[in-house]
Amino acid sequence: MNVQENYLTIRENIKRICNCIGRNPEDIKVIAVTKYVSIERAKEAIAAGVHHLGENRDEGLQAKFQEIKDTAIWHFIGTLQTRKVKSIIDKVEYIHSLDRLSLAKEIDKRATKPIKCFIQVNVSGEESKHGCSPEEVIDFVKGLEAYQNIKVVGLMTMAPFTDDQQLIRTCFKRLKMIQQEVQALKISTAPCHELSMGMSNDYEIAIEEGATFIRIGTSLVGNENGGV
Ligand SMILES: *Cc1c(COP(=O)(O)O)cnc(C)c1O
Repeated sequence: MNVQENYLTIRENIKRICNCIGRNPEDIKVIAVTKYVSIERAKEAIAAGVHHLGENRDEGLQAKFQEIKDTAIWHFIGTLQTRKVKSIIDKVEYIHSLDRLSLAKEIDKRATKPIKCFIQVNVSGEESKHGCSPEEVIDFVKGLEAYQNIKVVGLMTMAPFTDDQQLIRTCFKRLKMIQQEVQALKISTAPCHELSMGMSNDYEIAIEEGATFIRIGTSLVGNENGGV
């Protein structure tokens, strides 16, 4: 499928859902996740009008960043090893996977300006998933106040991989509730106004539950490793 057509379809879906629930479609930003595809395909996303690109590995980011830097806002969406911070920090505008103080410390040390971070929360509790537990979030946010270069713009989660829509919805609802708790702290460096949730299979539910960034790979740019 053509990236432009995919993007139009996704934007139409966003509009339809937003009309139903009274949200402004402009408030939903689409991140094209380019980890499964070539630089050419990533460029097609930019040409189609996507402004945000996401990679989950240092290598993928480096390769694409060389070719696409002035036209895209880059997001690091994958598990981030502390030793990789140095090489990604001057390329990304957002990090979606902040989940421990040791990582915050390294980001703070390497960054030359405040980095917009999402705290990754393992809402579903699946062992295979990274992120801090819901119970840890508040103390974690308080601990981050010490780091001048960390700005907590929001929370991120990945729903379980399941057909059970209710389970997915519960997961997103829970993230929204945690967001409200963080906002109630009124920490100036943790406005936490964004929610990064929803992927190809579940972004419609995520929008209904308050997502402001949806991260879409397969159904937008495709998967050149054998997917759609
Ligand atoms: C790969 C990935 C996505 C996109 O997944 P699709 O199902 O292909 O849309 C979104 N978020 C994260 C963190 C990812 O690793």
